[in-house]
Amino acid sequence: MVVKSEVLLKWLRTLRYLAEGYPVEPELRGWSWQSPPVRPRSYLGLAVQDVASYCPTRRDTWLRRVVGVRAQPTPPMRVGLEVHGVVTSVTAVLRRYLFSNYSPAVLSREVEKAVESHTKNCPTRECAQVVRGVGWLTYHTLVSDWLWSSYGVMPVPAMALFSELRVDGSPIGLSNNMRVDAIPMANVVVDLKTGKRSDVHELALAAYALALEASLEAPVDYGLLVYVWWNGALQVETRGVYIGPDLRKSFLDARDEVIDMLLTKREPQVAVDCPQTCPYLEVCRVENPSS
Ligand code: SF4
Repeated sequence: MVVKSEVLLKWLRTLRYLAEGYPVEPELRGWSWQSPPVRPRSYLGLAVQDVASYCPTRRDTWLRRVVGVRAQPTPPMRVGLEVHGVVTSVTAVLRRYLFSNYSPAVLSREVEKAVESHTKNCPTRECAQVVRGVGWLTYHTLVSDWLWSSYGVMPVPAMALFSELRVDGSPIGLSNNMRVDAIPMANVVVDLKTGKRSDVHELALAAYALALEASLEAPVDYGLLVYVWWNGALQVETRGVYIGPDLRKSFLDARDEVIDMLLTKREPQVAVDCPQTCPYLEVCRVENPSS
């Protein structure tokens, strides 16, 4: 992952004040999945993106799940896929190194191979630059955190061990095969983003936190959104989020609205302010030429 432990710890100091002033009630924890409001009205195996949708009317969810439209990823989505892919691949190389006798030269060659396997899939030069930058930053961050931990200065960097985790979200109505970018500490979930900042990213953090709580029976109160983009050089911005009562309620309300929409098969309107990166632009324009 591209964020050092010290950045994460700095955010946690700030977020802890919020948590102390406005704690999460037990009924809003993921482990309360047997009773409302966490218990869903129906178990549809929703993807996080079905609930935390970038479409203002969630018409993309309806198109995917009711109509059965399969859209090809747009170039911005391809950047996101390759960025996530390179983090997974480089982390896997590091993990193998930590438990083997690789020499540093072999490690470096393995990381290079992992990075290039993703840059070559990029549709644009800028995509390749972001992917290469994120791949090497992941490597340097994990190695430096590991070295600091070996001197006892930092905790052992769980980022190297607990990233790209599969989580069962079915107790709260989500998919039984969710993927969480990283859990660097027991009570923190990290989500890596390549697009514009959006409030729905916070909803996604709430989804991951509730699913983790349902699986692990341990509180997950904090989220870290990590944005990466290219602007002549790799840019990285982090934002800490307290996954408090209001955010949890917003996610649960949104989840229930999606369940209602899918059970009734009610068709949402075409949005008036569609993001130009939406892969369904052609579909919605064909169906509603006035949009
Ligand atoms: S084109 Fe607009 S209305 Fe259609 S799914 Fe995309 S954002 Fe939603």
